[in-house]
Amino acid sequence: MAKRDYYEVLGISRDASDNDIKRSYRQLAKKYHPDANPDNAEAEEKFKEASEAYGVLSDPDKRSKYDRFGHSAFDQSGGPGGFEFNMDDIFGSAFSDFFGGGSSRRAYSGPVQGADIRQPVSLTFEEAAFGVDKEITVNSFDKCAVCDGSGAKPGTRQETCSKCSGSGQVTEIQQTLFGAMQSVRTCDLCHGEGKITKEKCSSCTGTGKVRSRKNITVTFPAGIDHGQTLRVAGKGDAGSKGGPSGDLLLAVYVENHPIFERRDNDIYCEIPITFVQATLGTELSIPTLDGNVKLTIPEGTQTGSVFRLKNKGIPNIRNKKSRGSQYVEVRIEVPKGLNTVQKDLLKEFASTTEDKQPEHKGFFDKVKELFG
Ligand SMILES: [Zn+2]
Ligand SMILES: [Zn+2]
Repeated sequence: MAKRDYYEVLGISRDASDNDIKRSYRQLAKKYHPDANPDNAEAEEKFKEASEAYGVLSDPDKRSKYDRFGHSAFDQSGGPGGFEFNMDDIFGSAFSDFFGGGSSRRAYSGPVQGADIRQPVSLTFEEAAFGVDKEITVNSFDKCAVCDGSGAKPGTRQETCSKCSGSGQVTEIQQTLFGAMQSVRTCDLCHGEGKITKEKCSSCTGTGKVRSRKNITVTFPAGIDHGQTLRVAGKGDAGSKGGPSGDLLLAVYVENHPIFERRDNDIYCEIPITFVQATLGTELSIPTLDGNVKLTIPEGTQTGSVFRLKNKGIPNIRNKKSRGSQYVEVRIEVPKGLNTVQKDLLKEFASTTEDKQPEHKGFFDKVKELFG
């Protein structure tokens, strides 16, 4: 869309005086100011347009450039005599200089919810797995019981603020470039409360809240994991003016277990076995969260083999009857410090296997095939 001529925007002739420009802009600004035309995009556009025109024509240097080059004098791409021209500066300063800035903002003096309290909680591996009721110490701001949160000394009354008549807001008439302008501000006498406390409650020094340290019992559900947050509704700081309390947010840290490692709802552990057990097979007693269980290790088990124990993992946090698995990885330990008798037995064993081909090709067989 073609940009309108600045003189046309302000409805003035090209030889208009500085006073004509100012008077015309003042009228347009009053008519189209956003405060007077809430949610009216067209008025806002007109206001911006007038502000932009005023920004140029009220400045003798910019006006002479505009008279010579028109809008191209202010092209960002740099037309003849182009120079920096920032719309936001003009729009912004029109607001802040002439209208007191943010005058349409209203003070809020209704109920306010209390703040949330965040704190860490440490659980053992088993507590996280099966759930636990734990006593937690919470430092919070509670409603003052002496004044019931009003902040006023009991027996005294809060008086309606004389400056704002209880509204919490004051309307001020300001003399501006455009004449008298009305603006609404938060009352500075009652700070927007609408009420004045004549005598403060000595227990809370007029704040309506007191520091409290108390123990509460929190139920951590079975299956909760490291890094999760448990929200306890209503156990945060007290609200103001009848607002609800905030929440208590507990960040869960699960301690490491000496032999178990948790991944989601599964548990991993490593079990050492002797090479004889691995070779001949055996039955082992494996520790689980539910106590020891028997696990059959078949003949010829290799190191690194993994066995699965179903339903021995962590309960699902949404359904504790559904549990993960426990995975048992066997590590074959090579015996050290054998005596002569044992060594002779092994040598004898070795002599019986020298001519036998191994059932599975080992690492050195593969090396021989590749390079040998
Ligand atoms: Zn109090
Ligand atoms: Zn007031």
